[in-house]
Amino acid sequence: AEIEKDSNLMHIIHITAEMAPIAKVGGLGDVVTGLARACLSRGHTVDIMLPFYECIQKQEISDLALITTYNSYHDGNWVATNAYHGVVSSIPVIFIEPSNQFFKGKNVYGGSYNELEAYLFFSRACLEWMQVTGVQPDIIHVHEWQIGALPLLYWDMYQSLSLKKPRIVLTIHNMEHYGECRQEQLSKCGLDGSIYASVEKAIDDRTIGHNPERLSLLKGGIVYSNAVVTVSPTYLKETLCSGWLASVLITHRDKYFGILNGIDTVIWNPATDAFLPAKFHAQKPEGKKICKYYIQKGLGLKSEGTVPLVVCITRLVAQKGLHLITHTIKRAEELGGQMILLGNSPVHWVQKDFEDLANLHNKGTSTRILLMYSEELSHMLYAAADIVLVPSIYEPCGLAQMIGMRYGAVPVVRKTGGLADTVFDMDDPSNHEKANGFVFEGIDEGSLNWALDRAFRHFIGSKFCLH
Ligand code: ADP
Repeated sequence: AEIEKDSNLMHIIHITAEMAPIAKVGGLGDVVTGLARACLSRGHTVDIMLPFYECIQKQEISDLALITTYNSYHDGNWVATNAYHGVVSSIPVIFIEPSNQFFKGKNVYGGSYNELEAYLFFSRACLEWMQVTGVQPDIIHVHEWQIGALPLLYWDMYQSLSLKKPRIVLTIHNMEHYGECRQEQLSKCGLDGSIYASVEKAIDDRTIGHNPERLSLLKGGIVYSNAVVTVSPTYLKETLCSGWLASVLITHRDKYFGILNGIDTVIWNPATDAFLPAKFHAQKPEGKKICKYYIQKGLGLKSEGTVPLVVCITRLVAQKGLHLITHTIKRAEELGGQMILLGNSPVHWVQKDFEDLANLHNKGTSTRILLMYSEELSHMLYAAADIVLVPSIYEPCGLAQMIGMRYGAVPVVRKTGGLADTVFDMDDPSNHEKANGFVFEGIDEGSLNWALDRAFRHFIGSKFCLH
């Protein structure tokens, strides 16, 4: 379909720690790519600025070329820095590569350099690049705590140099990550950290009275941005009602907006998805059966009969409802179904617990626990799934449920944050037109059973489109 162009066309530069698919850890990467593409298709000029992580696969970038060599400040020194231009999934990207050890390592996060200092450096290096090249976008759109110091640097430093035009938007994807930063660490990017140690500016409200040293880059970013966005209307309400950022968000309520994320419908399209053994779409759903059969066969699950297949793809962290995920592994089997979990944990003991579970369950023919990160497998699993499970304790927006729905799976979710804005219960009479899944409220196993059992009954009762 032809996409309508906006009338007020702008130049927007996103500045971010993640971008799908080349530097993605979770939803942040997906959303930055999807939002950039959506704005490009409406006629805006869009660039993404990203650290040139060593782990980025260069063959995934087209037209990569060095465009600027310059110096950017860090901790009393000027660091030689290269800016490259390239195109990723049809989106223009500017890669910032310092000549020090920052952003080196096998993964996006967790390298042996100081992460906080690396992102402080990156935030300044992006502005410095604009200063050096004279590029002045209308909007600088920063994401998460990693880029939280940029609004401070912009208004308190670069405005008195030559950057005048841009206005700053901050999107908060997850308030749990607040960018804890000591005053002297902030000073390393060239600001005077002590200036920000007040309640009105960047002091970490959780430690007021006993630790004036501790700042929050996320809070500073909220105070210093022209607009602040979070990723769903319900999460906006939740963050105004509780949590230590509530008071600063209430103070800045007039510039704080809750806008529901969407998914990138080019990357996530079962009709064209190159990772799938068979393509499908709502009017021609037969390919989905092949995808399910392919996965069952490939992973050694029973493939005879029509057994409901539950899929859960997630970072394995407390936020995601770990006890409910492990409970579903048992419950799906009890109900005669199958379950595949694709997940990875940054926490050693969590990973270990799930490894034990994998050893216990992976021998049978109904459960597979796959402890890895795989973009390719994630596409195949969404395509194979009858039910996609998202039992989060809290969830700013959540993409898995939306991707699942686009791939013809029925979501079973906990009613929180963006899940409450995107999934509406089949058996709730007030949801007549919007009904698209199964929703539960409690954080106990019984609540989950109530939703999962109903999803299974609908499946068995042939209510799902394919059966
Ligand atoms: P969050 O941003 O908190 O991780 P979201 O639901 O917003 O949660 O986004 C998660 C994204 O990361 C989805 O695209 C999901 O498919 C993907 N993802 C999570 N874990 C894995 C994994 N182990 N392998 C592949 N993709 C994953």
